[in-house]
Amino acid sequence: MSVSCTQCGASIEPRADERLLECPFCSTALVLDGSATLFHEMMVPTIAAEQVPAHLRRFLGGGSTVADLDRKAHLDEPRLEYFPFWAFTIMEDGGERVVLEPAAPSSLQGLQGLELPAGRTRTMTEGDSAGAPVIEPEVPADTAREWLQSRFGMDVAVRRTVLYHLPLYRTPYSYLGRTYQAAVDAISGKVFPADFPSKAESPFVLVAVLALVVFGVEGLIVSNPLVKVVVYLISAVPILGIAWMTSRKV
Ligand SMILES: [Zn+2]
Repeated sequence: MSVSCTQCGASIEPRADERLLECPFCSTALVLDGSATLFHEMMVPTIAAEQVPAHLRRFLGGGSTVADLDRKAHLDEPRLEYFPFWAFTIMEDGGERVVLEPAAPSSLQGLQGLELPAGRTRTMTEGDSAGAPVIEPEVPADTAREWLQSRFGMDVAVRRTVLYHLPLYRTPYSYLGRTYQAAVDAISGKVFPADFPSKAESPFVLVAVLALVVFGVEGLIVSNPLVKVVVYLISAVPILGIAWMTSRKV
């Protein structure tokens, strides 16, 4: 099977299992998608490995994870890898916009519908990853385009499709004997978690049940409406206090 170069139109004979190739005539990096070739580009990391823990800890200290996770989690060494994305240039509100869809399966959250980070893109040639793993694209561009259409509507006009390899730092961390997966965008510093230890719900449910029981019993015992309001207000104080302490601890 021969394919033609997207850049110069020359005929290329790829090996059977070859998906990422370089045109022998014009040296353009290409990706084989079905029977077509598309441009294969990359971005250079701007965040150093030493800066990665600070980005991850900011996420771990945020509102969706268990309290003090940024201090309690043990972070592994960040490992750089190049993750593939299909980049679709679409027209929206009179302007162009580049939306990314992951070109390989991943348990990381937030990879779908990403914006292309601001920075310089360039053709990706061998040796550019400097030894970091380059994840092969497995998702066909047509499948990724369907994801795009499910987000932006069927009539979204795609001007250009490119495969990007974007640098990500894999930064697993452990907490209470379990290992959790996460990645940090090596250009924007954005964190993509897989699963993470989230705030447990059961203590909040217990506080709600306690409030229901206390108010219910008071309602049965006290019949005078005015006294009832006073009793409710007084018992609300310790319940709110317990709720506040629970939210601090969990
Ligand atoms: Zn060429």
